[in-house]
Amino acid sequence: MNSAPMFRKVALIGFGLIGGSIARGAKSLGLAGEIVTTARSESTRARVRELGIVDHVVESNAEAADGADLIILCIPVGACGDVAKEIAPHLKHGAIVSDVGSVKAAVVKAMAPFLPEDVHFVPAHPVAGTENSGPDSGFAELFINRWCILTPPEGTNAEATEKLAAFWRALGANVEIMTPEHHDLVLAVTSHLPHLIAYTIVSTAEELEGVTQSEVLKFSAGGFRDFTRIAASDPTMWRDVFLTNKDAVLEMLGEFQEDLSKLTRAIRRGDGDALFDHFTRTRAIRRGIVQIGQDEAAPDFGRRHKQLGKAAE
Ligand code: NAP
Repeated sequence: MNSAPMFRKVALIGFGLIGGSIARGAKSLGLAGEIVTTARSESTRARVRELGIVDHVVESNAEAADGADLIILCIPVGACGDVAKEIAPHLKHGAIVSDVGSVKAAVVKAMAPFLPEDVHFVPAHPVAGTENSGPDSGFAELFINRWCILTPPEGTNAEATEKLAAFWRALGANVEIMTPEHHDLVLAVTSHLPHLIAYTIVSTAEELEGVTQSEVLKFSAGGFRDFTRIAASDPTMWRDVFLTNKDAVLEMLGEFQEDLSKLTRAIRRGDGDALFDHFTRTRAIRRGIVQIGQDEAAPDFGRRHKQLGKAAE
């Protein structure tokens, strides 16, 4: 527990996987004197009250932002502009306004015009998540050893950026600073393209004639099920990601299609050397991710296997 809170009042607008994880982490570490939250629907607000994690659950975004020292929008990217407009008149002089959106240039473009000059706008993206959403899905440890990318627009107060960086570091994250455009290009290949591929493969398998759906599910351990985890991600969030990071995603999709054509050609020609070299390179990338601590070394993503002789239990 910290001796003095980093922020007197923190407002979390939106309480789903990310907002709920920030709330749980900040509360257990004492990073905020007071945490106020709100959500769009009455049902989510009621559930957050029941959970009893935050100090106050209020009815509107404006009420949450009022007098807060740190305001974090934990809502879909496409909603950030409207919410910035709504909270702008209620922001305290010197407050830090941030978000957690998976796309950065579009968020900056949507929010910045509404924010008064006497607040500090420091957009952020914690590169951490699961396929679950909603108020029950968050957990305090979500950000530990994950990266949080800050994309402060040019001229942002350095002290405010550092204060937000310290908040994320306290939640366990490593912090990196980059431009919103660079962020969007990097995430297009590391996150947005893999999601698009997973969404495609899962629907391709579902629509295949001659393979009944039950066979797709039954034999899914051959690799398919690992794509289904990603393809189960929140439809609203991912719709907004592809609508708002269109250019970078299309650029990466072009690269991907070229590489897919090369592999297709190697298969058609029976070019075993090309396939072997390709798969050797990709295996090294997986090992590199484990080496830098961004995934567990345990095989099969650490799934627990039943003991022999007890499989039927
Ligand atoms: P989530 O679990 O679905 O929670 C979203 C929250 O936003 C809910 O409280 C929801 O309220 C509220 N909300 C939805 N639409 C809104 C609107 N139009 N106006 C105001 N509030 C609205 O989502 P999440 O996974 O936490 O994602 C939130 C943000 O984090 C997104 O921008 C996403 O890009 C980013 N992000 C997500 C992940 C991930 O893996 N999920 C990782 C990193 C960053 P109701 O419950 O009342 O609808």
